[in-house]
Amino acid sequence: MAGSDTCIFCKIAAGEIPATLVHEDPHLVAFQDIHPQAPTHLLVIPRKHIPSLNALAAEDAELMGRLVAEGARLAAEQNLSGTGYRLVVNCGEWAGQTVDHIHLHVLGGRRLGWPPG
Ligand code: 5GP
Ligand code: ZN
Repeated sequence: MAGSDTCIFCKIAAGEIPATLVHEDPHLVAFQDIHPQAPTHLLVIPRKHIPSLNALAAEDAELMGRLVAEGARLAAEQNLSGTGYRLVVNCGEWAGQTVDHIHLHVLGGRRLGWPPG
């Protein structure tokens, strides 16, 4: 399994490559997406290198709960609770996953289409 040696999100979590951080705690890091798809586009990642939803273990349940709760907290902080927002985890090629370190997209600030393209 790739770890901090090769994974761009592990490097962001370790402070080895720059990102605009919006949250940091012992379990999670959140930062602005480099190619935003909406006025608010944040990424929340666990510090633990988990390649995708396919690799989740039972022991990751609490961590994933923290991840979702942090996404919702950040959405509220961005004043998105009223208008609405989307929390997205892409898994695999057909869903468009391009970084093999699990990440939660926090998208909002405009009306979001459904179904996604
Ligand atoms: P995925 O397509 O895997 O669900 O999402 C990966 C996201 O990571 C994309 O929205 C992409 O713009 C973002 N991303 C890729 N590389 C970097 C980077 O080096 N820094 C930041 N801040 N975002 C990145
Ligand atoms: Zn990683």
